[in-house]
Amino acid sequence: MSDDRETAVSRILDRFYVEHGPCCAGCDWWAHANSLVGECRRSRPVSGAERVDMLGIRSSSLRPSAGHILTRREHRCGEFRDEFDWTTLPAPYLRQIGWKGAPHAG
Ligand code: SF4
Repeated sequence: MSDDRETAVSRILDRFYVEHGPCCAGCDWWAHANSLVGECRRSRPVSGAERVDMLGIRSSSLRPSAGHILTRREHRCGEFRDEFDWTTLPAPYLRQIGWKGAPHAG
C-alpha cells in the first residue's frame, strides 16, 4: 500500500472509530488490511478457514493462508482496548476525523 493510500485508509478508519465508538477499527489489537477488514492480533494464528469465518466466507476458490482472525471494522469483542494517546496526533488531523476530545465522545 502506498503512503498516500495508507494515510487515506487510516483516516477513513479513524473517522469511523470516532463516529461509531469502540470497535475493531479503533482497537489496539487490530491491523487493517483495507478500509473495511483487518486482522485481530489479540489471539494466536488460526487455520485459513477459521481466519475468514467471521467475514461470512464459508467457501472460496482461493485457499486463505493461516494467520490471525480477520474481522470487519465494526466488530467489537470483550477484549477491545484503546490505550493510544490520540492527543499526540496533529490538531488538523484530529479535526479531519471528527475527534471531540474523549475516547468516545465522537
Ligand atoms: S475488538 Fe476484539 S476482535 Fe476486534 S481487534 Fe479488538 S480484540 Fe480483536
